[in-house]
Parts: sequence; structure tokens; C-alpha cells
Amino acid sequence: MTHRIHNFSAGPGALPLPVLERAQADLVDFAGSGMSLMEMSHRGPIYEAVHAQVTADLRSLLGIPDNYRVLYMQGGARGQFAMVPMNLLGDGLAQYIDTGTWASGALEEAGKIGRTECLWSSRDSGYRSVPRPEEAVGSPDAAYLHFTSNNTIYGTQYHHLPDSKGAPLVCDMSSDILSRTVDVSRYALIYAGAQKNMGPAGVTVVIVRDDLLARSGDQLPETMNYRKVAAKDSMLNTPPTFAIYMVGLVAAYLLEQGGVPAMSAINDRKAESIYRVVDGSGGFYTGHAVPTSRSSMNVTFRTPSKDLDRLFVQESAAAGLDGLKGHRSVGGLRASIYNAVREESVLALVDFMADFMARKG
Ligand SMILES: *Cc1c(COP(=O)(O)O)cnc(C)c1O
Repeated sequence: MTHRIHNFSAGPGALPLPVLERAQADLVDFAGSGMSLMEMSHRGPIYEAVHAQVTADLRSLLGIPDNYRVLYMQGGARGQFAMVPMNLLGDGLAQYIDTGTWASGALEEAGKIGRTECLWSSRDSGYRSVPRPEEAVGSPDAAYLHFTSNNTIYGTQYHHLPDSKGAPLVCDMSSDILSRTVDVSRYALIYAGAQKNMGPAGVTVVIVRDDLLARSGDQLPETMNYRKVAAKDSMLNTPPTFAIYMVGLVAAYLLEQGGVPAMSAINDRKAESIYRVVDGSGGFYTGHAVPTSRSSMNVTFRTPSKDLDRLFVQESAAAGLDGLKGHRSVGGLRASIYNAVREESVLALVDFMADFMARKG
């Protein structure tokens, strides 16, 4: 048996074991070609078929309408912080909702490109919440409204769509894409680095409504121009072929498991079982996020002291539970429970939390 720990890493995150095993089996001789997929032309029929299948599977998993394009880009989600305003902003006003490090990073990058406005921020309260629907309402004439659906570091998540009053909605979905059903037609653009919930690092998926492509000006660097990348089906330059293939293996695996609705039900159960321990701990554990903003992907909590937090990290690691240390900007503890983190791992964590509290509480 392969040695596998319970992996709660925030990102790059866990991948499904069957996906890794399939990649291992394919690695040296892909589909009888006598080559690794990594060693062959991206213009050849074998890679082209992989590329087309990944897109077809993502389209079916997310229910992406025909008038949306799926792009594979590089530079990470952070690269999109710049490319979104480069392509969509022009002389207009970009509105942002600041719910954490990534959201404020996106706003800051956009400020280098054009006019921005911060509609709402939870910075002063430690980024414990996302706004209620009525607290952050966009303007109909804005170039777009940008929000971050799941705040990986703080463990908060939207459970509604912000009201942009008809302006295009742009969403950084890096840490919850494919974890719950979304109605893509309500967004103008969705982007996500693959390495949290979709695959390995190295590719960023951009889903863009095709009428927005007209905004991409010819003055933009080609590899950052959505319209040009779309026109070449993301093969304007060499795409990260292996990373895209891995996203395809994850997509195919999710389809086999019943797709996004099946994952969503499991994710809700996983998250609830950890929050139940936090809420039932009589104050030993406290959650970082306001309950109505809680994330089902990243559960942030702490013990009564920094010393106990440190001990929790040490002892859980020794027990085979890895990656539970909170981000340095929040402290405390964080369990990232992406699609690939199995219920069995969450049950091991829940048991450990109960045991730790019994010994230290
Ligand atoms: C991890 C993360 C990012 C940064 O992703 P990179 O691919 O490293 O640039 C941006 N946004 C969110 C929500 C994230 O979780």
C-alpha cells in the first residue's frame, strides 16, 4: 500500500489518489505512443484530443453555456489580478469587494491599470465575513464588479452572488471552483488557479462570456490578451500541457463520482462535521469566520492559546494529519478540505480534535 497522509494543505492541495495513479500509469508511455505526454508536440493529434476532452469535461461539470470560452492561461490566479483589468477595464470603473488577502491583492493590481473603487471591506474586523447582499451593491455602469467567492486564508465564503446591478460579475473562484454548483450564466468571467481544487499548479482556468472578448485591446501583450488566446484555443504559445492533462484527469474523476452536485453534498457534510466540533467545544475551539460566512473549503479555528495551537499542529502532524497550521496572517489552525480530501480524513481530524480537547481542555 502506498503511504498517504491525511492532507489538509491549503494549496497546492490534495489530489485524488486514482488521479495520481492514472498519471503514474500514463507517465512514460502515453496511450501507446512511446512518449510521455510531456514530451510531445502540443500541435499533435494526441495532445489536441486531450485538450479538447478537458474542455468538454469542464463544460459538462460546470454547465458552461455555449457562449462562454474556456481558456488555459499561465501566471496563476495572481496573474489574473492584472489580466482582468488589462482586458476588461478600459476607461471605466472597476468595483471590488475586499474580503481578504487575495481580494485586496486583486484590487491593488487593478489600481495599476485603471480606475478602481472598493465597495466594501472586512479588513478592520479581521476579514471574518463576506458582505450581506445589501451591504455591497455595484453600479450598473461599472466596467465590472470583482469578488472572491471563497477566501482561502480566512475561511469565509459567499453563499449568495453579490448584486452588481447588471454590471459584469467577475469572480476569483480559485479555492472553491468545482466544489458546489454555480450558475455560470450569471457571471461574466470566472478564473481559478488549478492548484487548490482542480489539479496541479501551472495552469489557470478562465471562463469568459464571449461578448467580453471585444474589450481586449490590440495594444495588450498577446499572451495576456483573452481575445487572442481564445482565438487560438489557448495554443497561442505552448500551453502547460501536463498541468492541463492533470486537470482533465480530475474532471473525469469528478464526473465518475457524480459531478459537482455529489461533491457539494460531501463537502457540506465534511465542513459541518468540523464546525460541529468547534461549536460544541464549549469555547475550547473558536472559529475565525462569522457563522453565516463560513467556508466549506477552508475551516479556520483556534484553541485557547498560541501555545496550544502550536502543540495541536505538532501532535496532529505526528498523528498523520498534515497542513493544519493557519496562514501567518490569521494564526490559529486551518483545515483545507477540498474535493480530494476524503470524508475519512475529516473524520480522523474530528476525532483528533475531540481527543486533543479532552487532554488539554
Ligand atoms: C491561492 C489563491 C490565489 C493565488 O493563486 P496563484 O495561482 O498562486 O497566483 C488567488 N486567489 C485565491 C482565492 C487563492 O486561494
